[in-house]
Amino acid sequence: MAMKVEVLSDTSVQFPGYCVYCCEPASKQREVEVEASYETERRGKRVKIRTYKTKLKIPYCEKHFKELEKLENMLYAKPIGIGMIYGFIAAIVSLIIGFVGGDFARDVWWRKYLLNPILIMVSGLVVGALAGMLFGAFILHPILAIFLKTARHTPLLFIGGSLGFKAEFKRKGLIIRFRFTNPSYAVKFAEANRGAFFG
Ligand SMILES: [Zn+2]
Repeated sequence: MAMKVEVLSDTSVQFPGYCVYCCEPASKQREVEVEASYETERRGKRVKIRTYKTKLKIPYCEKHFKELEKLENMLYAKPIGIGMIYGFIAAIVSLIIGFVGGDFARDVWWRKYLLNPILIMVSGLVVGALAGMLFGAFILHPILAIFLKTARHTPLLFIGGSLGFKAEFKRKGLIIRFRFTNPSYAVKFAEANRGAFFG
């Protein structure tokens, strides 16, 4: 079961040099960014928003660093790449239909507004990449998590974290809450950070 450790957000967070996932000596590092925004005051229509951001260097052993890379490649890099290819093909097909379609196609909205071929191709790539990313994050990842433990132990995209751990700001940015799948690492982590407490 995952173990929670909370650290005050204004202290510099220390990660002991062991793999965050298996606690063996670490030889690799992965940078993870955690961000949160909070509304601090609201007077009339003016809303003040404060953003908290921190970069964490997460230690991994060789094996789990490779597994994390493999997972990310499978869940994101490949679907995004494939999405871009399909998006580009769709853009080319739209262009061909647009050019040979005559009167019928001339009335179609995209022919009217997106006639610029470069814009159509760029849109195809962007929409394709976005579709690939969403597919990886919300379809592929949950399915893979059923069968693969490392996928289950890796937070979804858009959530700060990577294999074996998750981090998020809590209490209006006052603390960072860490969740470790390996309790032994959670204990080492709590020892290394003064003022850390188990959540
Ligand atoms: Zn490891």
